[in-house]
Amino acid sequence: ICWSVRGGWHRPRVSPYGPISLDPAAAVLHYGQEIFEGIKAYRHTDGSVHTFRPDQNGRRLQRSARRLALPELPVPYFLQSLRELIAVDGAWVPSGEDQSLYLRPFMFAKEAFLGVRPAHKVAYYLIASPAGAYFKGGVKPVSIWLSEDYSRAGKGGTGAAKTGGNYAASLLPQSEAYENECDQVVFLDQDRNVEELGGMNVVFVYKDGTIVTPQSDSILEGITRDSLLQLARDRGHHVEGRNVSLDEWRRGVASGDIVEVFACGTAAVVTPIGILKGRDFIDEQPMGTLALELREELTNIQYGRAEDKHGWLYRLDA
Ligand code: PMP
Repeated sequence: ICWSVRGGWHRPRVSPYGPISLDPAAAVLHYGQEIFEGIKAYRHTDGSVHTFRPDQNGRRLQRSARRLALPELPVPYFLQSLRELIAVDGAWVPSGEDQSLYLRPFMFAKEAFLGVRPAHKVAYYLIASPAGAYFKGGVKPVSIWLSEDYSRAGKGGTGAAKTGGNYAASLLPQSEAYENECDQVVFLDQDRNVEELGGMNVVFVYKDGTIVTPQSDSILEGITRDSLLQLARDRGHHVEGRNVSLDEWRRGVASGDIVEVFACGTAAVVTPIGILKGRDFIDEQPMGTLALELREELTNIQYGRAEDKHGWLYRLDA
């Protein structure tokens, strides 16, 4: 689905999937003026198709747009784009355990010029791809590589926006993680506080039941994290958003104050962190049960197996 803007949003057009043409001087190719979202559509057992808190993705796309000097797509149009794609291609939403249709909305500067300034001509697209279970054969704890040499985003930078540049900056550290036999990389800020993984937020569970997650202007505010923390509050957990230094993490694990660490995002939902590895240490992480319980609770809502108490589901096929 494609929406062009030039002095207003014009009628969206659904067309067969295929290459798009861009002028070689298109601003996005040179200055990275682009943003995106990631969201899943789920088929319930009665055949209906739902997505999860898409208003939040629509608002986050607007915040990203603001930071990248792109026009803000009104949230109703964002929701309409999801519904229109499902109206045409809803048959692609798979059914079954952990199956979904991954939806990827994105917006980029297509105006051709070489000066550095915000583009006036931009396009909004939505593409989709069926996605199977993230973990084949059940959820497995992931190992995390501590990136000491690289940061993902700096203070006042674009860390809170979902824009390609942040991910470009994470590719080399992610390769370093693989070279060190780790699945994911964790980034610190300039004060050695924990930020996030390449594509997931981090959550710490303390012995007294308190849940702590990094709060910062330079990390992406995950919708999965926000939802899990709400479910945890519903269970009576106290939740805090604040800085967590690497030191607090390592000392907390060593002393037994931290009883569980997990990562969360749309793709994997929740994954326990099993190992934190740095240049000169390997810290085994404690395994608890809360991460997997919250994962179950959240996916039960998403797949229509549990009551949607917070009104998070949004029907796409009606
Ligand atoms: N941080 C980063 C850098 C991400 O790419 C993602 C995935 N969108 C997240 C956190 C988690 O966000 P969400 O729960 O909204 O998928």
